[in-house]
Amino acid sequence: IRVRIHIVTIFPAFFDVLDVSLIGKAREKGLLDLRVHDLRDAAHDRHRTVDDTPYGGGAGMVMKPEPWGVTLDDVLGAAADEPFEGVLVVPTPSGEVFSQALARELAQERQLVFACGRYEGIDQRVVDHYASRGRVRLVSIGDYVLNGGEVASMAMIEAVTRLIPGFMGNPESLLEESHEDGLLEYPIYTKPALWRGLEVPPVLLSGNHGAVAAWRREQSIERTRERRPDLLDG
Ligand code: SAM
Repeated sequence: IRVRIHIVTIFPAFFDVLDVSLIGKAREKGLLDLRVHDLRDAAHDRHRTVDDTPYGGGAGMVMKPEPWGVTLDDVLGAAADEPFEGVLVVPTPSGEVFSQALARELAQERQLVFACGRYEGIDQRVVDHYASRGRVRLVSIGDYVLNGGEVASMAMIEAVTRLIPGFMGNPESLLEESHEDGLLEYPIYTKPALWRGLEVPPVLLSGNHGAVAAWRREQSIERTRERRPDLLDG
């Protein structure tokens, strides 16, 4: 097993779809061990309560620290006073913004744990406590608000998993993608050469590899300037 990924959530069924697609294949190949844990298994009252009202008042509910503590210690394989291995990823709209660079970094780890918040989020002490025992990353997948960390975790897991060495059939296809060189990818075409009156740019049919590479580079820069000028700053 190259990477072990744990997900803690109150909606384990969200992750059933990970068995299909490439992630399912990575699991079959033995590159990836992915386990989903139900936070409510650590809540022992009749309603298996994981949330409570916020101190200080305000709308919404806050996830209680105790079920997180019990579950994360168990998943991380470390007692409450011990350091842990790997990275604890906490999706939150107030975190650093996820990027291809962070995906690459996380793909080097042996163990990743995703803690999916719901309601207004998780009691702050959970992050404070685990940050004192190991590496914790607060990560946002963009400047918008989702209902829970499940979809955010799924996006990150997919981006990270395809970078695990041995995952992609053709690793070269990773190198030419958007964001790998700081630019957006150039336009891509396949057969037929003429479709609904639209032609494939002739340079791509020329067989001249140098000219193709130059054209693609130019298109990447042009596209980035048009759609994402922020990527060209500096
Ligand atoms: N009250 C929080 C705030 O204003 O920052 C929002 C909580 S949100 C409704 C519930 C959960 O969804 C969060 O704890 C987090 O796990 C997840 N979430 C929402 N938006 C996200 C985003 N952009 N990136 C990552 N996770 C997000």
